[in-house]
Amino acid sequence: MGIRIINDKCVGCTLCVKACPFAAIGMKDRKAVIDLDTCTLCGACVPVCKFEAIELKKEAAAEPAADLSAYKDIWIFAEQRGGKVQSVAFELLTEARKLAEDLKCQVAAVLVGDDNIESEAAQVFSYGADRVYLVTHPELKDYRTAPYTRAVSELMSKYKPEIFLIGASTMGRDLAARLAIRVNAGLTADCTGLSIDPEKKILQQTRPAFGGNIMATIITPNHRPQMATVRPKVFKKINRDVPPGHLSEVIRFKPTINEKDLLVKIVGMIEDESITVNLQEAEIIVSGGRGIADPKHFKLVEDLAEALGGAVGASRATVDAGWISAHHQVGQTGKTVSPKLYVACGISGKIQHLVGMQSSDIIVAINKDPDAPIFKVATYGIVGDLFEIVPAFTRKIKELRG
Ligand SMILES: Cc1cc2nc3c(=O)[nH]c(=O)nc-3n(C[C@H](O)[C@H](O)[C@H](O)COP(=O)(O)OP(=O)(O)OC[C@H]3O[C@@H](n4cnc5c(N)ncnc54)[C@H](O)[C@@H]3O)c2cc1C
Repeated sequence: MGIRIINDKCVGCTLCVKACPFAAIGMKDRKAVIDLDTCTLCGACVPVCKFEAIELKKEAAAEPAADLSAYKDIWIFAEQRGGKVQSVAFELLTEARKLAEDLKCQVAAVLVGDDNIESEAAQVFSYGADRVYLVTHPELKDYRTAPYTRAVSELMSKYKPEIFLIGASTMGRDLAARLAIRVNAGLTADCTGLSIDPEKKILQQTRPAFGGNIMATIITPNHRPQMATVRPKVFKKINRDVPPGHLSEVIRFKPTINEKDLLVKIVGMIEDESITVNLQEAEIIVSGGRGIADPKHFKLVEDLAEALGGAVGASRATVDAGWISAHHQVGQTGKTVSPKLYVACGISGKIQHLVGMQSSDIIVAINKDPDAPIFKVATYGIVGDLFEIVPAFTRKIKELRG
């Protein structure tokens, strides 16, 4: 995979310079020059060049076998917002520890921010990191695509992780895709399961495919690092007691940030006040599906959620019907949740819904169809009419709670 200017054909017209969305093309001696560090190989410049002076090769030429032995350890990206490491980083660390036992390697966390971020390292160690790469620069205080990509890809090129796991948050998805291109690695997005192949010792990355109808296990045998994103709440986080003498190594890394990486300025952060529900942090969720039959019946679901002190979730069928906002949607194209209690009212349990809630501790399903697939994952299944059962539950809980 690569891109180049054919100098004999380039007439210095600058059309490609204007067409490049990443400001990766400049002019030198009246010829276009591509900054390969900034170029994402998006190909936007190729069709605008009337002189066919830009060659983009999407297919890798027969590459010599890479030396994979130089790559070691499992890394996770310790996503931080406002200087606080996010829960998804601890979930990834917990999973990385399990993988590291099978791979007999160490676990490292990449913590990026300004100098104040160092105070978060202790927490990262307590969730299982053996090593923290502390990547600091004043321009890295808050996430921006270009400087973070530059900093983390420099770190990866220097220390060469064998596996790199990143949360599939808005930030993580943006960063992971850029990094994978920068270091010429594959990337499996939105994994719901990770394991190590016992023989080949490579990462098996499982995720829904073909609209969620099959689960595909993807491997990256020929390139390193093996990169995957995992949605928040897919894995549970476990805070470990760090035994005395546990390796807690901090490696400080000062990346080079260029002017060109700072084209985007953060002028302010605005909270979206329309989001009144934080499903991913809720310990109890009561969700309604198409079985509630009418948007006004969401009141039954809301009443039960309120009695239990929980949040209201929904299937995509109800969101698509406009009965409730998309912030409440649980599933493959909604939120992945892992509460202590998940109550599914009139939800059939199609795979796309299940992948978003099946790791809940206790699942209670209420459905009038005894063959509904939701019962396969339910801890307690109630076959019956939700219009009788849900209000009866609410009454009983209110009674018990006085
Ligand atoms: C690419 C893709 C992504 C998707 N992403 C998501 C996603 O993120 N989240 C999601 O939820 N779906 C998602 N879907 C849609 C998914 O396939 C299902 O269509 C959807 O989950 C069905 O919602 P439901 O269970 O509410 O409705 P239905 O499948 O229609 O089920 C309604 C259930 O209610 C029961 N019922 C009816 N009346 C009563 C009653 N009175 N009492 C008790 N039970 C009753 C019925 O027996 C039935 O089982 C996605 C689909 C695709 C193709």
